Amino acid sequence: TPHAQHRSLRLSVIGTGYLGATHAACMAELGFEVLGLDVDPAKIDALSRGELPFHEPGLSELLVKHVDSGRLRFTTSYQEVGDWADVHFIGVGTPQKAGESAADMRYVDAAVTSLAEHITRDALIVGKSTVPVGTATRLAGLIQDIRAGSGRPGSVELAWNPEFLREGFAVKDTLHPDRLVVGVRSDHAEQVLRQVYAAPLAEATPWISTDFETAELVKVAANAFLATKISFINAFSEITETVGGDITTLADAIGHDPRIGRRFLNAGVGFGGGCLPKDIRALQARVSELGLDRTMAFLNDIDDINLRRRDRVVDLAVQVLAAVRTGRTDSTGPAEVRSHGGTAPTPTPTAVHTLVGTRIAILGVAFKPDSDDVRDSPALDVANRLFTAGADVAVYDPQGNRNAAGRFPRLDYVDSLQEAVTGADLAILLTEWDEFKQMDPAQLAPLMKHPAIIDGRNVLTAQDWIDAGFTHAALGHRFDP
Ligand code: NAD
Repeated sequence: TPHAQHRSLRLSVIGTGYLGATHAACMAELGFEVLGLDVDPAKIDALSRGELPFHEPGLSELLVKHVDSGRLRFTTSYQEVGDWADVHFIGVGTPQKAGESAADMRYVDAAVTSLAEHITRDALIVGKSTVPVGTATRLAGLIQDIRAGSGRPGSVELAWNPEFLREGFAVKDTLHPDRLVVGVRSDHAEQVLRQVYAAPLAEATPWISTDFETAELVKVAANAFLATKISFINAFSEITETVGGDITTLADAIGHDPRIGRRFLNAGVGFGGGCLPKDIRALQARVSELGLDRTMAFLNDIDDINLRRRDRVVDLAVQVLAAVRTGRTDSTGPAEVRSHGGTAPTPTPTAVHTLVGTRIAILGVAFKPDSDDVRDSPALDVANRLFTAGADVAVYDPQGNRNAAGRFPRLDYVDSLQEAVTGADLAILLTEWDEFKQMDPAQLAPLMKHPAIIDGRNVLTAQDWIDAGFTHAALGHRFDP
């Protein structure tokens, strides 16, 4: 039966980070025997014990379940996966190259080379990593060259199957994807992938079978569009912050038009993470390589708008602290806020300020809620800038503290919201965890030295905070002290 046939496929997943560990555990959940491989032995040891090295809702349970059942195993041996699996998914990293916009392809190239050198049976290699267009064609040539010289049994084919999972929803997105996109060069490759994804296909998930270039481009096009949508509303924030108006009402109103849609139109501190920022930069670098210098030039502005949001939070922090100081009646308020220049009467919005003597509570450092990922996190960037400008910065994130401390160890990481705000002159919400959306201003006000809050994600009801005695400011809203 077709059912028994798809159960018999053995899958390997190369690279067991956010993407790979999720894919491996979810494929085991779909009934396959899965072998995960990583070059990081510590990661493989942890996963083999059923310990997830990062936070992702629902994933830990799947990992434990399938490690216990024996359906999901982990190794560092390419020989083992090469002898064993029918299908090898590649989920290694494609980070931004240091000092450049382009993607660093060394991990993908190394993974494909190792597979091509070790496979000893008929196999399909399926790329899932996000790559510059043209990569799959190049890798198909590389595989052919290595196989021709290797003398090993089995024929090896390549397919590309970009991944669209969202951290925080990774399990759901893998088991029930919005769509499946496969770039294939043969019917055989498509049929194998249809077997792998038989379960989501049975739920009528759209199946897009196409060529390599389209499959690669679908992923970067989706991310470029999403980044554009976020920076679009954030560009309007720069207007409403200047002239007045309500950015959330504006987003709601345009979002009612189904051609526009309300999602991803939340004004705030902008996008970050291990994907969107590096993917829009890599896309610009790739099209420039292709001689299309102007084609993706607008993404430069998308990136700039996004990064200016971080300047805005720092600037707003200075303004709010100044307002709190002006408004106080005794002489023991927050310390002086002044520009580095000392003599400049009006600091420019992006100027670096010293915030010496102030204590600022940073609520959230993960780049998004329900994740512990702090790669290119706007929240962590803002926390670090405030620290660099002299503030005493207390950081609380429900899951992200450990990763953040690995990057910026000098911030004061605390274990609770209450601890973070205690004695603070200002709290800044930067990651919209439910815990922060549900904060009770009346409970927090007495803990703070000065009740002041900046809503960096537009998730709080301003009036509630004002009623509780807070000085309230939000991105996308003019701050009128
Ligand atoms: P990650 O850094 O969490 O994981 C990458 C893993 O690959 C690491 O564990 C690393 O040790 C391993 N690795 C590196 N070289 C290897 C090699 N030669 N052989 C075996 N393993 C090797 O990265 P990630 O977030 O999982 O992203 C992986 C890819 O997936 C990237 O291209 C990314 O753009 C893409 N992607 C990520 C997400 C996401 O939400 N994280 C979503 C869609 C697509």
